[in-house]
Amino acid sequence: MTTHTLPGDTPGLRRAIIETARALPKLGLTKGTSGNVSARTISGFLVTPSGIPYDALEEDLIVAMDLDGCYRGDVLPSSEWRMHLDVYRAKPEAGAVVHCHSPRATALSCLRRGIPAFHYMVALAGGDRIDCAHYATFGTAALSDAMITALGSRTACLLANHGQIACGPDLPKALSVAEGVEDLADQYLSALSVGEPEILDTAEMSEILRKFKNYGKQAGEQNQAAGAAFELPKRLG
Ligand code: 13P
Ligand code: ZN
Repeated sequence: MTTHTLPGDTPGLRRAIIETARALPKLGLTKGTSGNVSARTISGFLVTPSGIPYDALEEDLIVAMDLDGCYRGDVLPSSEWRMHLDVYRAKPEAGAVVHCHSPRATALSCLRRGIPAFHYMVALAGGDRIDCAHYATFGTAALSDAMITALGSRTACLLANHGQIACGPDLPKALSVAEGVEDLADQYLSALSVGEPEILDTAEMSEILRKFKNYGKQAGEQNQAAGAAFELPKRLG
């Protein structure tokens, strides 16, 4: 089979997509052939094929697409190619997209409930909540439109009666957002099973979003305009 490539499409990136896709079942984020993974290239993106088990993925089964939604080669792209395309079109900063049917996020999506600020970590998706998109059939433009609305300026949303989608600047970060969304859905469902969680207010969540700009950064890497992530102890050595 001939591998069709576009600028920025490298064997390394194809391999990284396969590794990220295979991480989904290992992390308990998906089963069977559900879910799909993509990464941006210079002129488009590379996406996993449709309906091929993760174990059977090979570099030449990863499909090259351009930003007009055209694909190259003999292998059909993921049925959700349009969601991936629309994220890359809407968010210039997105370098990778992960869609999965992780169990707890999917359970919440079946209640058609998003994740409010019941825990400060909802800020991991870049906002003060994670919305659930309106229901639409899988693999349709209607689903992609609903997803883009629910994403807004954030990096993840739930998809009603379906699962979740997450993006990030690269594959490890997009995967980490998807893992974070699953954790939050798990915690939110646990809290809901015994009561109605207290929701953090807008002012508190603004403070969290400010602190996240410098969280995890060393002293020399800090964004000064955002202020400190937390009070630093006195350094003795
Ligand atoms: P694909 O195998 O076509 O990527 O579809 C999986 C899926 O999750 C559809 O929503
Ligand atoms: Zn799906």
